[in-house]
Amino acid sequence: MQTHEHQSTATRRSVSRVVRGMPATDGAGVELTRVIGQPVLPMLDPFLLLDAFRSDRPGDYIAGFPAHPHRGFETVTYLLAGRMRHRDNAGHEGVIEPGGVQWMTAGRGIVHSEMPEQRQGLLEGFQLWVNLPAAHKMTQPAYQEHTAAQIPLERRDDGQLIRVIAGRTARGTRGPIDQPLTEPLYLDVTLPANAVFEEALPPEHNAFAYVISGQLGIDGASRPLVRDELAVLSLGSGFGAHAGGEGARFLLIAGRPLHEPVARGGPFVMNTRAEIRQAQEDYATGRL
Ligand code: MN
Repeated sequence: MQTHEHQSTATRRSVSRVVRGMPATDGAGVELTRVIGQPVLPMLDPFLLLDAFRSDRPGDYIAGFPAHPHRGFETVTYLLAGRMRHRDNAGHEGVIEPGGVQWMTAGRGIVHSEMPEQRQGLLEGFQLWVNLPAAHKMTQPAYQEHTAAQIPLERRDDGQLIRVIAGRTARGTRGPIDQPLTEPLYLDVTLPANAVFEEALPPEHNAFAYVISGQLGIDGASRPLVRDELAVLSLGSGFGAHAGGEGARFLLIAGRPLHEPVARGGPFVMNTRAEIRQAQEDYATGRL
């Protein structure tokens, strides 16, 4: 029907901004690239931070992230290469391996360390911070952890491979992460040369694509995006992208915005400055 076609066209997503990460050092001296959570892109509600790390120089990662607290949001670690050991103050411990994800709801009370489980070789992956609504910032900590083998792989006809970490694709493949508060979609998409990728997204959810390798053309971009570039997408239901002659791999991430005030204090993200001061005081005095 003509009207329907017109509406679909009108709500297609396009690139509203292209952002490159900036070099940053965090933890005890880990060199990484901060993509969301930097001056040119402080946040993309509900996403507070995206760090990309990729290095085969042990000096860039070996110091890791020794014990530190969090409060008020979720940290999502997704590894492409290497291994990271996680340990918290409640005795929860494990190793994240390539292709594995750890979705940690910090809530209140978490002090944890994230340390490389390797002395050499490549360490590559991402940490995404997802905000929690005010009523859930002080929730009990919780983990959702899945190995590569537990993450569904959707194979499309022309060789497209979509790892579904969170959310559900238009074709019905559902990822293992459950988070109704922000309904996150987290896809790791690999496209063969010149493939055309189409996906439906919730129209009001904020979304971005981050290129891991290759060249990725997206509607509204004046040129193909390359490795380490993030495209902020306009709102709309349809997302279309096409790979260049060498194929492309990218993350496609979306979530429901919370539209709440955000107050940050390092590892704490709350709604007000007073709540940040309280979190700092609680940590200093051992009242987690
Ligand atoms: Mn942490």
